[in-house]
Amino acid sequence: MFEKRRPGAVLFDRDGTLIRDVPYNGDPGLVEPMPGAVEAVARLRRAEVPVAVVTNQSGVAKGLLSADDMDQVNARVEELLGPFDAWAICVHDDADGCTCRKPAPGLVIRAAAILDVSPRDCVVVGDIGRDMDAARAAGARGILVPTKQTRREEIEQAAEVADDLTDVVERVLSDMDGPGLAVSAPWARALGWSRW
Ligand SMILES: [Mg+2]
Ligand SMILES: [Zn+2]
Repeated sequence: MFEKRRPGAVLFDRDGTLIRDVPYNGDPGLVEPMPGAVEAVARLRRAEVPVAVVTNQSGVAKGLLSADDMDQVNARVEELLGPFDAWAICVHDDADGCTCRKPAPGLVIRAAAILDVSPRDCVVVGDIGRDMDAARAAGARGILVPTKQTRREEIEQAAEVADDLTDVVERVLSDMDGPGLAVSAPWARALGWSRW
């Protein structure tokens, strides 16, 4: 038997990835899982792969929803998808110049730190280029799951593109079989820390 290489964690973007994107949503009643999300997260848990959420919520900085609204939406996400091992949330906006708002790597680094794993052993799953840029900047493997809203150039620039969350889990868990994949995988060239 090959020794299985287990990802340290899978870090999911929230809006447009785990749940349907309702811009600046503060209403738990509008939370709706993306197709395959419930089963995808459940399969990772069964494989004992930690799961986390890394999400930009600039609506808080913009005053479009309160932190309490956001907490209630996140609680609803966990009601529908089950508990996550970590949440890393940026409540800033572009003009704030923080180090956490994707495409900066801060959320990925924070979630990895909470889970006590290296960002290099994490998989970041998202629906737009900002998610992939954050993954790359943190040294993580990024997998893009495009929606109809994803821009074509962001799909073309992604190191790895999956059809849906089911496909993501197949990719992540199949890498647990067989040696050497971490070295030969196409995303390996993107590994490395960047200054930020
Ligand atoms: Mg998104
Ligand atoms: Zn931030």
